[in-house]
Amino acid sequence: MRFSILQLICSLALTALPVTSYAKLNVVATTPDLASIAKEIGGDRIDVTTLAKPTEDPHFVDAKPSFIVKLNHADLLIEGGAELEIGWLPALLDQSRNPKIAPGAPGHVACAQGVALMEVPTSLDRSRGDIHAAGNPHYLVDPVNAKIVAQHMANAFCAQDEKDCPAYRANLKKFNEAIDAKLADWERILAPFKGQQVAAYHNSWLYFGNRFGLTIDLFLEPKPGVPPTPTHLAEVITKMRQDKVHVIIVDPYLNRRTAETVAEKTGATVVDVSQFPGGIKGTEGGYVPLIDRVVNAIARALGQSH
Ligand SMILES: [Zn+2]
Repeated sequence: MRFSILQLICSLALTALPVTSYAKLNVVATTPDLASIAKEIGGDRIDVTTLAKPTEDPHFVDAKPSFIVKLNHADLLIEGGAELEIGWLPALLDQSRNPKIAPGAPGHVACAQGVALMEVPTSLDRSRGDIHAAGNPHYLVDPVNAKIVAQHMANAFCAQDEKDCPAYRANLKKFNEAIDAKLADWERILAPFKGQQVAAYHNSWLYFGNRFGLTIDLFLEPKPGVPPTPTHLAEVITKMRQDKVHVIIVDPYLNRRTAETVAEKTGATVVDVSQFPGGIKGTEGGYVPLIDRVVNAIARALGQSH
């Protein structure tokens, strides 16, 4: 009798096992680029919720009440950090009352850690209206930084789900290999344009330019987050004519019409780019197709501008 009860307990335990072993990690990512990389590393072992839309400004995300519920249920929060989400995420985090993902907790992954941030000011001053007060937070448009981010994710997933760690590590290796394989292509495609200057609406392509040898340092915004003024645009137009700048890149959430006006006056081409998979056509497939698309679009526009 005793033996059969033991058997019963054992069989019940075995039946219960699959439920726990298939429980997925509940991951919330602030932006679609982070979500896309998380999916590559986590595969079907994680459920990913993305807060920002691919066509939304990552500095100013429309914080919906549903986000609080999602954050409350999360095992892990993945954010870009470097103050990218400072305007909308802290209040949501407070309201979510989830200690697992509070800043500093193991479930809170700030991906900027270990990234060599550029344009970090020597003194912090938000009074000037610059939303890049802690340095430029758009580091993920450099594919080499994507590998750092992917590493953070693999580490975080392993810490929460030890038994699936080999799978996360294998996915990380695959992701890194995909980046390395394409990086050589991307460098080759942009090599003929080394040193050329490109104008941008917002200063979100600094790290991309740095990686591929383009100078992307002329902006339609007078300061990051400050809308263009007629005076500033007149200066930009003069500089573009002087320095023979033929391409203006614009993220989908910015005012394309303004860029078109400047392009009409300078003979430049407006190129749609996105930091986020799904932000422009043909980039829905993930991070690698996104960078591929942007590299080719910029190369095409620069190639036509002679
Ligand atoms: Zn920005």
